[in-house]
Amino acid sequence: MAPNRGLGYAAAVQVKGETLPDERRTVRAPSHSTPHAFDALHEAVAAFAEARDWRQFHTPRNLATCLAVEASELLELFMWTRDGEGPHPPGAGPPDARAVEDEVADVLISLLNFCAVSGVNPLAAARRKLAALEHKYPVALARGSAIKDPTRAD
Ligand SMILES: [Mg+2]
Repeated sequence: MAPNRGLGYAAAVQVKGETLPDERRTVRAPSHSTPHAFDALHEAVAAFAEARDWRQFHTPRNLATCLAVEASELLELFMWTRDGEGPHPPGAGPPDARAVEDEVADVLISLLNFCAVSGVNPLAAARRKLAALEHKYPVALARGSAIKDPTRAD
């Protein structure tokens, strides 16, 4: 098996087409992702924009556009790779884990800015959506299945 390429997430452990046992593919939230840390980050992101008087540019449309662009920049790091490979073209050297982290940060910062101007509480929204997904994808029907809506499957 190829070495773990340093991303720290399940996507990084399936390499060269090798499928790992389920327990190795489990994605765990980083231990620092507490609500308090999230609130502090949200406040720091807001303070950064306000100190530069950038809120004047932060319309929901502009920030939604920014979010989509940053998500595309994350995806771009994996362009021309195969499933299980790192974020680099084949044969182009080791993956750049820092570049992935930078784009993840850009996505999160863009999302927090969007939520700030749109009045969305991202944690509450995510909890509400997760509860809805629990109903849509009951474990008994959805485990190991990629069917989009298992409750409607024949
Ligand atoms: Mg970026």
